[in-house]
Amino acid sequence: MLYPAMRGHRLALGLGFCLLLGTALCSLWMYFENWLRVSYVPYYLPCPEIFNMKLQYKGEKPFQPVTQSLYPQPKLLEQRPAELLTLTPWLAPIVSEGTFNPELLQHIYQPLNLTIGLTVFAVGKYTRFVQHFLESAEQFFMQGHRVHYYVFTNDPAAIPRVPLGPGRLLSIVLIQRHSRWEEISTRRMETISRHIAERAHREVDYIFCLDVDMVFRNPWGPETLGDLVAAIHPGYYAVPRQQFPYERRHASTAFVADDEGDFYYGGAVFGGRVARVYEFTRGCHMAILADKANGIMAAWQEESHLNRRFISYKPSRVLSPEYLWDDRKPQPPSLKLIRFSTLDKDSSWLRS
Ligand code: UDP
Ligand code: MN
Repeated sequence: MLYPAMRGHRLALGLGFCLLLGTALCSLWMYFENWLRVSYVPYYLPCPEIFNMKLQYKGEKPFQPVTQSLYPQPKLLEQRPAELLTLTPWLAPIVSEGTFNPELLQHIYQPLNLTIGLTVFAVGKYTRFVQHFLESAEQFFMQGHRVHYYVFTNDPAAIPRVPLGPGRLLSIVLIQRHSRWEEISTRRMETISRHIAERAHREVDYIFCLDVDMVFRNPWGPETLGDLVAAIHPGYYAVPRQQFPYERRHASTAFVADDEGDFYYGGAVFGGRVARVYEFTRGCHMAILADKANGIMAAWQEESHLNRRFISYKPSRVLSPEYLWDDRKPQPPSLKLIRFSTLDKDSSWLRS
């Protein structure tokens, strides 16, 4: 039997010892953490509704529906068979030949002395597309404006030196090569947002992000400049939204329900004001990261995430399939001209 004074003494000793041990373990851990330089992969729970939720901050006027609302699908060919829709239901212009006056737009935009950025990725075998892409861009892309091309590649020596017109500039940005082609194309969102944060926000007013396996065939001018710009995919402009190849698994942050969606947009063309593109690519990158942590690759990789995000953050300007066509498809009567088109390529060889 112990006296109460002795018991108190032992308790104090015990507590002191625990405190000492705790502090020692803590400092040891901090030391090892520094020394090991371990980077932790965060674990995310599937939370698509949070990742793509449009927040309405206090005092901010809602410009677009904040909660999901059900409404009929807008149809590009709804009006008359050979005439395209010119406005979305949220009043964004749909740009196609005949909806604008190029001379007038040139007069309006020329004095603004804007610089337009263009990002393009050429990793591995895709460097072979750069020459044709740049030569056609020099001929048709934003003629008479300042243009800054950013070519992201793992192999700068393979990028041809294409002569550029006055006011046009090309920067090669070195990036790592990932082994899988899905990874290369999905990583673009991360790379672009990082590039805007580190550099492009100081150099350009607007920025377009395009696929490299494509060529310009007709003028692409300031009619395409908007805060946030999307292009309608050539394969799905006449298809009911239930058949759009959205990501349909609930566990993915790119999930889209059957009764949602406006147009199916192509991942090969998007752009806008540099600040909006930064926000956009960062959002897509976060959603891709969350999926990755859960072992999910969306149905059409970054295109699925882009489409999911454009439902909540609607584009302020929509480009008709004139701006994103595919050489493997015949030109339909509803399109008066093709401005930018995917080349017929040997995908299995390129991706091997
Ligand atoms: N890409 C690349 N190297 C690759 C795979 C893709 O540079 O090995 C880039 C390139 O800019 C390409 C884009 O990612 O245009 C998208 O890939 P791809 O054109 O093959 O996709 P698709 O248009 O066929 O869906
Ligand atoms: Mn492509």
